[in-house]
Amino acid sequence: MQNKRSRISYKNRKLKSNPQEQWNIVENTHEPIIEKQIFDKVQKMVIVQKYNRSEKKHKFLLDGLLICYECKHKIGVRTRKNGKLDMVCNNYRRNSKLGLCTSHGFSYEALEKHILQYIKNLFLAIDSKKIELNIRNKRTKQDYEKILKQKQTEINLIKDNIDRMYVDKLNGKVSEEMYERLFNKLMKEIQQKEKEYNELKSKKEDTSQDDSKEIEKVIKEFLKLEKPTPEMMKVIINKIEIHQDKQLDIVFNFKKLNNLI
Ligand SMILES: [Zn+2]
Repeated sequence: MQNKRSRISYKNRKLKSNPQEQWNIVENTHEPIIEKQIFDKVQKMVIVQKYNRSEKKHKFLLDGLLICYECKHKIGVRTRKNGKLDMVCNNYRRNSKLGLCTSHGFSYEALEKHILQYIKNLFLAIDSKKIELNIRNKRTKQDYEKILKQKQTEINLIKDNIDRMYVDKLNGKVSEEMYERLFNKLMKEIQQKEKEYNELKSKKEDTSQDDSKEIEKVIKEFLKLEKPTPEMMKVIINKIEIHQDKQLDIVFNFKKLNNLI
């Protein structure tokens, strides 16, 4: 199975003055799928954030989501003397003398702004149906169950025919040669139908992994919020990998979102 992550490039240093236009999205591959429990927590989190927003004053929005692409350690956020927030690879910070990694020391504020803008644009596009989430699975699980039942009936009918032919052969109504020929023909039909049956079955399993309903709910919650919370971002995003060459890979918790981009 191949899912995608979206990659944003902010290589261009001029970006600080005019960020939005400098970021490009590049496709890449990845694989996580949201766990059911994560989604079940969404509503609760949205409610919780309304009450303890003030307590979370010092928690960064993308707290815990930033990963160093090069060494896969977490990326922390630190306040500089001038009050600006910078990112730094924890592996580099702890072992700077060993040269195990590089700083990844870019502006956290710029990153946060871009990620938020990117997600907002994506979600607005989905919400206004400019992007269709449901393209792949037009058939529902019930549709597939119906078709599968039909296929199974067809297979059983052919098997019944073979049984009847066998009796006819025993009674001398059908010659050995005729029986053999028809038997081979019907067995091929069964094989073909069983192949179709298995293909349909795996398509049916795909529909049960369809998370578009959950995504729509999360999108609505996100767009309702005046300012998203770290909890909300954790529901949406699995991780953000930061490259030393200033590229970003966003991996969403929802399979369909990763497939979209
Ligand atoms: Zn690193």
